[in-house]
Amino acid sequence: MSQEFPLPMPTLARSPQGLLIEQVALTDIAARFGTPVYVYSRAALTEAFDAYRRALGARRSLVCCAVKANSNLGVLSVFAQLGAGFDIVSGGELARVLAAGGRADRVVFSGVGKSRTEMRQALEAGIRCFNVESAAELERLNEVAAQMGRTAPVALRVNPDVDAKTHPYISTGLKSNKFGVAFGEALALYRRAAALPHLRVCGIACHIGSQLLDAAPMAEAASRMLGLVDRLAAEGIRLEHVDLGGGLGIRYRDEAAPTVDAYLAPLLELFKDRPEELCFEPGRSLTGNAGLLLTRVEYLKPGEEKNFAIVDAAMNDLLRPSLYSGWHAVMEVVARDAPRRTVDVVGPICESGDFLARDRDLAVEEGDLLALLSAGAYGMSMSSNYNSRPRAAEVLVDGREIHLVRARETVESLYALECPLSSSRS
Ligand SMILES: *Cc1c(COP(=O)(O)O)cnc(C)c1O
Repeated sequence: MSQEFPLPMPTLARSPQGLLIEQVALTDIAARFGTPVYVYSRAALTEAFDAYRRALGARRSLVCCAVKANSNLGVLSVFAQLGAGFDIVSGGELARVLAAGGRADRVVFSGVGKSRTEMRQALEAGIRCFNVESAAELERLNEVAAQMGRTAPVALRVNPDVDAKTHPYISTGLKSNKFGVAFGEALALYRRAAALPHLRVCGIACHIGSQLLDAAPMAEAASRMLGLVDRLAAEGIRLEHVDLGGGLGIRYRDEAAPTVDAYLAPLLELFKDRPEELCFEPGRSLTGNAGLLLTRVEYLKPGEEKNFAIVDAAMNDLLRPSLYSGWHAVMEVVARDAPRRTVDVVGPICESGDFLARDRDLAVEEGDLLALLSAGAYGMSMSSNYNSRPRAAEVLVDGREIHLVRARETVESLYALECPLSSSRS
């Protein structure tokens, strides 16, 4: 990778002091908060959200940030202040949204395994809609709502059976996926939902996959959804909103990711004369290029076949490379006038799969800082404590200001809920 690699992150810049995010030097962040540390840019988060708002213009619409992509309260609060809605997949994510100042009446609840407790919490909070993913869930939701003397707003998540042409682990709109109800079963299920006394049918949802680089499959899915909306209307089941999910891809390397405008244009055309509110659930495209993972080189380990740069971040901090060959640009934070060598950037974890990047040409020495770019989505939110590693700190940069939005975990907190057995039986 050459030094002149065009940066995928809009608020990251090169300077004589090394890389800057907004007006803050990454070296300052490392000095103050240590490494590994996730760093987010408020301006980039805001711009990503505004791109959706601008593209949607005056059209009745709601952009619901997918909380699973980045669930940090600081990040969520930025979106809440912009008037965003949220797409959640658990009771835990609902609690986070509310703690971050998000509005419950702008929350949609997706996921195939909602528990009764989670349904109750969401009904209590007064969320906007349950995206129901099976016949059994529909019956259970009606029951839970009945017990509470409430009516649950529902949309069915319909599987449009289109190929999103993305990695199989992140493709979700095919018949073979666990997500959503089959297109062919949707009509019958809507009739059932309309007949259940404690449900109020309000919409339809789909989500065909993630890191989509082509707008065509989404437009095809949308037009199938509209066919269904019209058939339902003919039976007297009128839907107020159509939720087209998330999935817009971003540039990690050299991908030609569509702009939000280009992605939404065919959809806006399809919906031009339609009364339904249009909803989206973007995750990656809101936070992915607003965040990076800052790490320090612990050791260089030259070898016969491979050179390794062993860093203080690992697969427990950033799982995407191990899990689905996710590629992240790696940059020296302060450029060095030294020969480059081809290295694998790996972590300290005891797994061969613990790598963050492979075969990168870097000029690095022990103690140098590296930035793994485009790590704002599915980074910290997928992290774990494997190998008893405290999770990274998270900071949010706003102009010249740095806010610590999650303190580094302590080792003690990792086993605070555990206890050793006493040495003698009692
Ligand atoms: C993961 C997910 C999203 C967000 O997907 P991105 O590719 O990050 O935009 C939206 N909706 C649902 C139902 C999801 O599961």
